[in-house]
Amino acid sequence: ADRNRTKDVSEESLRSPICCIMGHVDAGKTKLLDRIRGTNLQEGEAGGITQQIGATYFPAENIRERTKEIISHVDHAKLKVPGLLVIDTPGHESFSKLRSHGSDLCDIAILVVDIMHGLERQTIESLNLLKMRNTDFIVALNKVDRLYGWKTCRHTQMKEAIEQQSKDVRNEFRMRLDQIITQFKEQGLNTDLYYSKGNIRERYSIVPTSAITGEGIPELLWLILAQWTRKNKVEKPTYSDQVQVEVVEGLGTTIDVVLVNGVLHGGDRIVVCGKQGPIVTTIRSLLTPHPMKELRVEGTYLHHKEIKAVQGIKITAQGLEHASTATGLYVVRPQDDLEEIEEKAMEDHMKSVMSRSTE
Ligand code: GDP
Repeated sequence: ADRNRTKDVSEESLRSPICCIMGHVDAGKTKLLDRIRGTNLQEGEAGGITQQIGATYFPAENIRERTKEIISHVDHAKLKVPGLLVIDTPGHESFSKLRSHGSDLCDIAILVVDIMHGLERQTIESLNLLKMRNTDFIVALNKVDRLYGWKTCRHTQMKEAIEQQSKDVRNEFRMRLDQIITQFKEQGLNTDLYYSKGNIRERYSIVPTSAITGEGIPELLWLILAQWTRKNKVEKPTYSDQVQVEVVEGLGTTIDVVLVNGVLHGGDRIVVCGKQGPIVTTIRSLLTPHPMKELRVEGTYLHHKEIKAVQGIKITAQGLEHASTATGLYVVRPQDDLEEIEEKAMEDHMKSVMSRSTE
């Protein structure tokens, strides 16, 4: 079986997808995120999960481990990504802020819909954002455990878990699902259960989940990686030289960023967009929190000489206190024209101000 999992060279070179969680208030975004992060921690080993600045990183191996009971080795071998980065602040405000270079930072979203309530106001708002940015998404049809009489089936594929329910539960599930599919249709979107037949390229997948029991979550993680692997092959290039970074929060002389592409080094000369003009400075340190299994001491970080995408990191450098959030960060290479980069950095600022005033 291990031979099936021989590491393809491309696994290293493909970029991990960045995932955001969106949906209506109370749909279960926070709980779902807790579940996604928590399961492995309760099992003792963090399974390679690392808590980052504003995000949590899951190595593909961790996701393989969590899905080994429901996904075949053959399918596991098809995964060609190093892992998955999930942004820690759910909600569409954070999605709006997560933009880099005027495009999206978020590669794929989990749109959480409460099965008892269907599409609600903020679900539609989230959908509109996703459509506008042309961002791929998967629907987590959450709170299935609230269907009257639902019997929890752990370590089972959701498809089988549904088949094992009583007739009444299955009927209620089908009725609610059909209503929700119709509601999506009214929004111009084709959706269906992730395991139903038909061309998966022509629809968005729905994964029934329960953030309370954890059912459906392995499938959800799996689908994100599988979908990204598939699309990546055709659309997305691998690592580029260009470093793509998003400033999430400015704090004193540090900024929190998501490194989307490429590699950052200590000592790199960088340009960030500032409230009073471009800030040109040098990276003093690249920091990430300590891995989870180690004792976490507030305010202490691991120092890195270089960091490869995708990661949530903290950068310290002089002059960052006026850095704007939701803008790009540019590395100045020896051959680059500094003025041009300064202009580019300030364009981001204009874009982010404009998008904030229209959203
Ligand atoms: P958010 O506003 O979307 O972040 O929603 P929360 O994660 O805070 O959840 C709202 C409420 O729904 C909380 O009381 C959760 O415990 C509950 N909840 C979330 N997911 C589930 C689920 O799958 N099943 C059930 N029964 N309750 C859930």
